[in-house]
Amino acid sequence: MDSKILAWTYEGSFHCVACATARFGDALDDPQTTDKEGNTLGPVFEWDEVNLCGDTCGTCLNWAVEPQEHEPASCLFGADCRQFEFAQ
Ligand SMILES: [Zn+2]
Ligand SMILES: [Zn+2]
Repeated sequence: MDSKILAWTYEGSFHCVACATARFGDALDDPQTTDKEGNTLGPVFEWDEVNLCGDTCGTCLNWAVEPQEHEPASCLFGADCRQFEFAQ
């Protein structure tokens, strides 16, 4: 794969590439691969619109998508924006 994948979505949450690879191995590259809910896996590409506050991996709880600098509350979290925590 040439395009850079930041993370994967399956089973209702984001997962980092390391955890997704550990879980699915070569099956990650197979578009027919499904999670245990029967949904296909969703790659998150670097140009996709991601939550500016970042998203944690549902497996290892590290960042699946790193948070980026942004105006507080301008992200998908709105009033729950983590920038308010960063600022303290
Ligand atoms: Zn992980
Ligand atoms: Zn935010």
